Amino acid sequence: MSILIVDDTPVNLVLLEDILKQEGYTDIHCVGSAREAFSFLERGGQAGPDVDLVLMDVVMPGMDGIEACRQLKDQERLKDIPVVMITVRDDAEALQQSFAAGANDYIIKPVKETELLSRVRSVMRLKREIDRRKAREAELLRMTEQLEMISKTLENLINVDSLTEVSNRRYFDRLLENEWQRAIRRSDSLALLIIDIDDFKAYNETYGHPKGDQCLRQVATALNEAIKRAGDLVVRYGGEEFAVVLPNTDREGAMAVAEQLRSAIDALNIPHEHATIGDTLTVSIGIAAGVPQQRGAQRQIVAAAESALYVAKSEGRNRIRIANDSCA
Ligand code: GH3
Ligand code: MG
Ligand code: MG
Repeated sequence: MSILIVDDTPVNLVLLEDILKQEGYTDIHCVGSAREAFSFLERGGQAGPDVDLVLMDVVMPGMDGIEACRQLKDQERLKDIPVVMITVRDDAEALQQSFAAGANDYIIKPVKETELLSRVRSVMRLKREIDRRKAREAELLRMTEQLEMISKTLENLINVDSLTEVSNRRYFDRLLENEWQRAIRRSDSLALLIIDIDDFKAYNETYGHPKGDQCLRQVATALNEAIKRAGDLVVRYGGEEFAVVLPNTDREGAMAVAEQLRSAIDALNIPHEHATIGDTLTVSIGIAAGVPQQRGAQRQIVAAAESALYVAKSEGRNRIRIANDSCA
């Protein structure tokens, strides 16, 4: 345990140091003024100094002990170091001033050995308790931070598709339900696109499954980059199917977004020699849009977008079709 003694009278320093050394305390530092005390305490840096107790003379030239104690207790990194005032005055006013400045205890001069030692022991016990509490708090904080990180990672694992890193079907189901209800409350139009890669079975057969995986990642990234509004969301809906939820979007808006997405995939220029049309990878898109009416009936918009997708496929692929009425 480390003790700092602050006293402007050298003989007092020697006396206190001797008593403490005889009792077995070895780590004792003596300074002659409040200013020197602060520069000593500065050394610990942000972690705080390695001092467990300050014995502080009250009457000193320059800054007196009471002011020094007040300034020490004002500093976050120093405030937990116990301060015992050493004073010639034991009148009520002097004591009241010491305690108001944050002192933990006081000793009257001339210092009696037994009194000094018993006060030092009890304040040291207090300091050890404070240190233990701070260590527990730091550990608790560290554990809380770790738990928060783990819970974020889990949340991510639950809601994100590991191959393409866009949201997954589970997240889509929750989101669509929320958006559906919100659109009802506000009488807003909601749009849903279902995007299916054309002839992807043939792609896998021609280029291999790993290439197919890479292609899915490319498509997911391109779709994600092509959507513009903050509320719009791309999800991996199934194997080679993606869905895009467009809140507050009507039929015309949805058609425009779908065309942007279709041409973004075209622009990737991914070779596909066994495609139905052309020789690059394409997508077909089914759209449903409208103002939802019936609570909990979000399956309607999904079914409508799927039917529109079916029409796009049967009419030759690489095209967009929109359902006539999706939310009645
Ligand atoms: P269509 O134009 O009618 O959509 O034909 P398609 O071949 O794309 O459709 P189909 O449903 O017959 O085949 C989908 C293929 O997508 C079959 C399956 O192996 C492939 N697929 C699904 N999930 C994955 C995946 O995670 N990775 C890879 N590489 N392929 C996948
Ligand atoms: Mg499919
Ligand atoms: Mg397909």
